[in-house]
Amino acid sequence: MQYSGRIKKIPPYLFAEIDRAIEKKRREGVDVISLGIGDPDLPTPNNVIEALYRAARNPENHHYPSYAGMLEFRETVVKWYKRRFNVSLDPEDEVVTLIGSKEGIAHIPLAFTNPGDINLIPNPAYPVYKAGTILADGIPRSMPLLEENGFKPELSKISAEDAKKARLIFINYPNAPTAATAEKEFFKEVIDFAKDNDIIVCHDNPYSEMTFDGYKAPSFLEFRGAKDVGIEFHSLSKTYNMTGWRIGFVSGNAEVLAGLGKIKENIDSGAFQAVQFAGIDALEGPQDSVVRNMRILQERRDIMVDGLNDIGFQVSKPKATFYLWFRIPERYKSSIEFSEDLLNKAGIVMTPGVGFGEHGEGYVRCAITQKKERLEEALERIRRWRL
Ligand SMILES: *Cc1c(COP(=O)(O)O)cnc(C)c1O
Repeated sequence: MQYSGRIKKIPPYLFAEIDRAIEKKRREGVDVISLGIGDPDLPTPNNVIEALYRAARNPENHHYPSYAGMLEFRETVVKWYKRRFNVSLDPEDEVVTLIGSKEGIAHIPLAFTNPGDINLIPNPAYPVYKAGTILADGIPRSMPLLEENGFKPELSKISAEDAKKARLIFINYPNAPTAATAEKEFFKEVIDFAKDNDIIVCHDNPYSEMTFDGYKAPSFLEFRGAKDVGIEFHSLSKTYNMTGWRIGFVSGNAEVLAGLGKIKENIDSGAFQAVQFAGIDALEGPQDSVVRNMRILQERRDIMVDGLNDIGFQVSKPKATFYLWFRIPERYKSSIEFSEDLLNKAGIVMTPGVGFGEHGEGYVRCAITQKKERLEEALERIRRWRL
């Protein structure tokens, strides 16, 4: 069978390989503790599940949904943006419902990137920015996220030639996998850069509500001129523990969203209306479950960060996300080697940083998506292994 050149250009999806390694260990009888994947272990809030039941019983919801998403869902998003960020949006053409934000992120290059055009991609990063670019026959150009720059790209290092050929720039704060956050100045710099070079900004913001210690993450659309140059992806997956439900949304520049809509019309037929109704309940219903979840995650973060520092790693406390991103011990040549050792000697899975791009080499990502007893057990095993 001959696969397309596009498929051949996509790097192997690291997480599938990790899953195979875990499966093998489990078959050998090892009680593996997986801190590898960014999928919340906590359940979806009850009010959201009840809303799905109600909506699923109504036959009107059994038909093809509208491509852009139900107007009620888009209006809910508009109210949420106003409440949360004081950003005004038009529900008619400045919001589109997505089948999870991954869907929109993967499709946006098809609307704007011609073969041979460049998209600017952070490195390390969520793999979909690069994969979506390759699938559109675009050229992914890495923007290194270095610790010395607070894991923010240095826009001044992008060559004039690349900037001229670039169609999209992807950014993501609070960031995965580094858990870094960005301040106003950075977003303003991105907006100026995009204006000067006629580039569309795609801000991926699924962790805006997953913050600690009183930190409140901004929306890209809060900043002057943002809507002229870009869009922002949001997801219900992480905030409401809804990764399996496949619902997200994208907001901002109407022309950009019309382009994405054109692609979506021809590829998918929208998100199940009952899931959109459940999404409305998530965004408008009581938020106490989010507060409770964040308290649980904050406790886990503190246990894990303090524990790892005690053992001799150097881990700082992130202000957002459910990831810890830290350097592997110096005796290891590669993050894959470290992760393999961690699995083989301690039965623990963490994701090698290089899996998010070559600039992630030398780091490992630990997701705190396990109960605190399991995290304590993981720390105990690492302590024993390293002695
Ligand atoms: C989880 C995640 C997404 C995708 O979330 P969906 O479930 O597709 O809505 C997008 N970007 C980043 C950085 C993520 O971590």
